[in-house]
Amino acid sequence: MKRAGMEDDMSYDHVLTADYAALLAEEYNYRPIFDDELGFNLFARPPHPDPTTLPTRPPIVTIMGHVDHGKTTLLDTLRSTAVAKGEAGGITQHIGAFSVPVPGGSGSITFLDTPGHAAFSAMRARGAQVTDIIVLVVAADDGVMPQTREVLELIKKDENVSVIVAVNKVDKPGADADKVKRALMAEGLELEDFGGEIPSVEVSGLTGKNLPALVETLSAVAEMKDIRAERDGDVNGFVLEAKVSKGLGSVATVLVTRGCLKPGSHILAGCANAKVRSMADSAGKPVKEAFPGMAVTVSGWKHLPTAGDEVLQGSESDIKKALSNRERKADQDSSVRDVDAINEARRLERERRQLEEQAEDAGKVFVAEDAPKGPMKVKLLIKADVSGSAEAVSGALHNLGNDAVKSQVISAGVGDVSESDILTAKAAKASVVAFSVKVPKAMELLAHREGVPIMSSPIIYRLVDSVTDAVRDKLPKVV
Ligand code: GDP
Repeated sequence: MKRAGMEDDMSYDHVLTADYAALLAEEYNYRPIFDDELGFNLFARPPHPDPTTLPTRPPIVTIMGHVDHGKTTLLDTLRSTAVAKGEAGGITQHIGAFSVPVPGGSGSITFLDTPGHAAFSAMRARGAQVTDIIVLVVAADDGVMPQTREVLELIKKDENVSVIVAVNKVDKPGADADKVKRALMAEGLELEDFGGEIPSVEVSGLTGKNLPALVETLSAVAEMKDIRAERDGDVNGFVLEAKVSKGLGSVATVLVTRGCLKPGSHILAGCANAKVRSMADSAGKPVKEAFPGMAVTVSGWKHLPTAGDEVLQGSESDIKKALSNRERKADQDSSVRDVDAINEARRLERERRQLEEQAEDAGKVFVAEDAPKGPMKVKLLIKADVSGSAEAVSGALHNLGNDAVKSQVISAGVGDVSESDILTAKAAKASVVAFSVKVPKAMELLAHREGVPIMSSPIIYRLVDSVTDAVRDKLPKVV
């Protein structure tokens, strides 16, 4: 404890217990908060003392590159060949990741299929966090493009990630793989062909040419990296996707990075917890145990977690404690202020209606007062297809504008635009932003009737443009 008047560089003469500190705080009319998670270091599973003794795990691979260079096609072909080779039955679903066996029976490779969308920078950055190897796809008929350079920048920043170049579309008449490789060299990527260490494979996602070679190269790189993890004990992992599913409630894809996930485990991701009810792979087959490198859909969540959140396992009571800590912290952040904003807007709307009715009864016309002065807001209620994109869209659309007018995301959720979205937006005087979700015709009509603007697009930058326009429209006109 520091005595009054002590200089900063002087020593402390007391260490307070949490209880005593709390008493002191209360004496000065402060409400103390105990942070159990920090205090007990609840979820820090210590690193293994000798990782070289652990079993190997499948590498986690992300495919990146410029738009239209063939990422989706490549993923689709890899997935369908994997399904054809695997056991029969089961329709593959998009769950955020899938597994491809390595020819020769030596393990498998886990591919993340986070949307290869150009604007998914938030998720892409996350993808790289859990990624061991990036496959940089460059179309042989197009060469190095702006998003190719973005990936090169990302690779430079993350020294833990390895890279393989897939020169794609080599089936095309105008393809010039050598030119592409020289261009990559010029960008500073040291390819094997030129004496460097980065392998490249010439492929066609469309015809499937050389995809086995790509898988083998990935397997060789993974072997060199010697990727190992515990297959037992508490789970660590990441949420890849989350959505509400009919019949199953909140379902999230969890990519396991350590430990073993089983039905009955208590897990936590952000402010959402689950007692794992059931797990399934991308073919929809039930899974009893999920080991590192595996991605499984998990049901049993009390709330919908957010894509990119870290998954941790603990006892039921520890998770409860951590959850209440996290919820309290979340209380202090903007999302709750946003709920307040919605409630306040609803209250004002009710008052306005009452005044309108009273005025009507008295045979008068009610005229609302002008909005209070200060920075104006273009409020947005966001609906997106998956929680990762809801977050990415919120990030892109929040706080556009200047000191006079700014955009503000008041809520962001998953699913098609519903009646309650439109009524909430009306109450809060907000616009609805629909990203890659349906706006049913009836909802369009309702929005029109209620005067709620809807901005709908599957492309983030178009939404950015629409919101910027809305902000500009609100700017005070210079006369
Ligand atoms: P993404 O934006 O990177 O996901 O690219 P897509 O996979 O959507 O591919 C963009 C376009 O290129 C589509 O019309 C594909 O059919 C085409 N394409 C993708 N891969 C190949 C390939 O290997 N060869 C040829 N000829 N076309 C391809």
